[in-house]
Amino acid sequence: MTLYFDHNATTSILPKVQDAMLTAMNNPLNPSSVHSFGRHAKALIEEARNRIASMMGVNLRKDGYNLVFTASATEANNLVAVSRPKILASSTEHISILKHAVDILRVNGDGLVDIQKLEDWLKLNPGASSLVSIMFANNETGVIQPVKEIAALVHKYEALIHSDCVQAPGKIPCNLLDLDVDFASISAHKFGGPLGAAALIYKEQHQLFAQIIGGGQERSVRAGTENVPAIVGFGVATQHTNYQSSELRDMFEVGVMNTCSDAIIFGQNAPRLMNTSMVYMPNVLANLQVISFDMKGMAVSSGSACSSGKVKISHVLTAMGVESQIANCAIRFSFGHDNTHKDVVELIDAWRGIYRASL
Ligand code: PLP
Repeated sequence: MTLYFDHNATTSILPKVQDAMLTAMNNPLNPSSVHSFGRHAKALIEEARNRIASMMGVNLRKDGYNLVFTASATEANNLVAVSRPKILASSTEHISILKHAVDILRVNGDGLVDIQKLEDWLKLNPGASSLVSIMFANNETGVIQPVKEIAALVHKYEALIHSDCVQAPGKIPCNLLDLDVDFASISAHKFGGPLGAAALIYKEQHQLFAQIIGGGQERSVRAGTENVPAIVGFGVATQHTNYQSSELRDMFEVGVMNTCSDAIIFGQNAPRLMNTSMVYMPNVLANLQVISFDMKGMAVSSGSACSSGKVKISHVLTAMGVESQIANCAIRFSFGHDNTHKDVVELIDAWRGIYRASL
């Protein structure tokens, strides 16, 4: 059996989510239909909508936010990005945001954004046509940005803020009302829900420009018949987001550093997700590490999941000023609710074995 240490890429669907989805699949459920099946479908997606918003600290009826369903967080990020002409994004954002940025905000060696540089940009670009996009937590290093502080600064200049919160649910509480962000993206498959269901949550006064035009679903912001079983699963997953402790991650990092004091754990001095560890193994290329772990029955990855399946140098580490020969030898380990103490003992043994074999 393969041990899975790649939970930031995706997680397996929780059994309760599977059950709810299978039940939903037993009916013909088009929420736009007027008959009883259609009304039932509509009720199911509205229940899911409220549950998802509530997980993110928002009451859709009272707090002035909308939630639009999309097929991925990539789509949700694109939906915000195409709706705003001028975007400043941090250099460690997901590629689905970075590709739209007109300006890039530097991060320091710990992966945290440069607040002074942000303010300099806002002074030159005040007002609601400017959007600042800063992720809540990085998918590769786990580094958590001070989004609340950033949002306050952005609003001081009357600009808007989007936060890619994809890596938060299931790992760390994330309350949009408290953060006071204008737009936030999340994705079901990162915390026990299915692939193909995601959402953009946004303050209702902001206009979004639809990328998919059609039958007027989702308030005409995102046309197309809703993926009801996946949305139901998304809603059920929100009921089982048990925040993890850092015990396994810490145990792993102690094991690594005891094996090799030249190893590097990136973002270690910043607040980090408690399940994520991006580690440099001296002189062993990332692709060789991924294959070696795979041969030992362990799934790890070298950072963000890339559709080509190739191991590429991490733009996140590059942005943090890490030299390419070091970044080339870094692997991300991301733990999840199904990992055990024993799994991590085996992982440390495997890390030690791969490292020692390279000497
Ligand atoms: N943003 C972050 C921080 C991610 O980690 C990911 C997925 O890797 C995405 C966006 C894209 O999410 P999706 O797979 O739903 O397109």
